[in-house]
Amino acid sequence: MDYETVIGLEVHAQLATRSKIFCGCSTQFGEEPNAQGCPVCLGMPGVLPVLNRMAVEFAIRMALATGCEIASRCRFARKNYFYPDLPKGYQISQYEEPLATGGHIVIEMDGKKKRIGITRIHLEEDAGKLVHSEDSGLTDESLFDVNRCGVPLIEIVSEPDMRSVEEARLYCLKLRQIMRYLGINSGDMEKGAMRFEANVSLRPRGSTRYGTRVEVKNLNSFRAVLRSLEYEVQRQTKILQGGGSIQQETMGWDDVREVTFPQRGKEYAHDYRYFPEPDLVPVDIDRKWIEKVKSELPELPTARKRRFISQYGIPAYDAEVLTTEREIADYYEEALQVGADPKAVSNWVMGDVLRELKARGVSPAEFNISPKHLAELVNLVSDGTISGKIAKTVFEEMVKTGGHPREIVEVKGLIQITDTGAIEQVVEEVLSENPEEVERYRGGKTKLLGFFVGEVMKKTKGKANPRLVNEILRNKLG
Ligand code: ADP
Ligand code: ZN
Ligand code: MG
Repeated sequence: MDYETVIGLEVHAQLATRSKIFCGCSTQFGEEPNAQGCPVCLGMPGVLPVLNRMAVEFAIRMALATGCEIASRCRFARKNYFYPDLPKGYQISQYEEPLATGGHIVIEMDGKKKRIGITRIHLEEDAGKLVHSEDSGLTDESLFDVNRCGVPLIEIVSEPDMRSVEEARLYCLKLRQIMRYLGINSGDMEKGAMRFEANVSLRPRGSTRYGTRVEVKNLNSFRAVLRSLEYEVQRQTKILQGGGSIQQETMGWDDVREVTFPQRGKEYAHDYRYFPEPDLVPVDIDRKWIEKVKSELPELPTARKRRFISQYGIPAYDAEVLTTEREIADYYEEALQVGADPKAVSNWVMGDVLRELKARGVSPAEFNISPKHLAELVNLVSDGTISGKIAKTVFEEMVKTGGHPREIVEVKGLIQITDTGAIEQVVEEVLSENPEEVERYRGGKTKLLGFFVGEVMKKTKGKANPRLVNEILRNKLG
């Protein structure tokens, strides 16, 4: 029997606000444990939460970017469960009246586009962090850190629209990319900016009914999402092929052994005893506010890619790479504003710039080469001042010193030699120093031309114009 994979993802994304969702505590990552707590996020009796307006605005941005319908009124709900990382004994989330519903994003696979439905986007607060004995060095103890309690999250629930692990991967990457473009999520996976729950089921290919799903919880990296999905697909396939049936259950993921394991019986909504949060009024979202947020949305990656292709005439591949990150796309366009060839600048950005950014672990804004300087470097090549090869040397110097390309070229005397007389002189030298090679060349070994070019370049420290060198050599040898 051939089975089809069905995947739906729940993504928890941290909203990049400075303060928590219901109190003024800082969300800054990496502070001392328990340095960021107050009576509200500690769940003391008698305190009242106050909603962070920016968190709502960030969620609205995401809802608009994914084509969701934004409710004119949404409401917070208490999700009750007893868990040591949750001091209140409940999480403030949204349940029956979420902020937004019914959107989608588009992923692209082998050039084919596919829509993945977004069921809903709702706001909620994060829980704290438990440090268990193995990590803390203590035995039989768990430590609790309140810093994360009340950090704003959106939960993005997808439709069960993905049909392979690869589609799930592209979906996660797309969400991250969009949120980073919107400036609402750092995308920093190591800092817990995105966490996932993966739902996966199988069904006989051709069937229109969904199979029983398993939910894998607590996935903290793309890798964990993918590996756990692969593992589950295999596990379920084996069970079904052996004539067994799948239990609906919640699984954990063991990052070290790379296996899923049954965690607890599946909770149903009634287990959480949801009820409207009595400490918060419903949120009425003004249409004017939505319109304002909409008008301030940045151009999103897909639209930007399309524009890059049509406006700058660069290949689709280039446009894809350049728009992967908003900052890179900004860098590229700033360079073009100086007036440089779009494809030449693209080559530099996709190659040398991205490589250096990665090697140095810096963002374009922190990079030693400004877009303007890069464009000037590109222009030094296109106007013949320096050769492409010398440009690489100049680039390296710019990376190191942050210097201006023209100054580097002048100070280091790297200007291309285009004076025919000067090149002829060097060519003569090379020919007279290598009489045997000249003989062999004239005897038919024309491949030796490369050798002569190399010698001339050596003598001119790479500064001779390669086209002229070739031309003059051919003349003299012929
Ligand atoms: P729960 O609270 O039980 O996790 P949600 O409605 O919040 O339920 O999330 C359900 C998730 O499971 C959604 O992402 C949905 O697309 C996915 N899902 C539902 N049915 C299936 C199925 N048969 N196979 C795979 N995924 C499914
Ligand atoms: Zn607080
Ligand atoms: Mg779930």
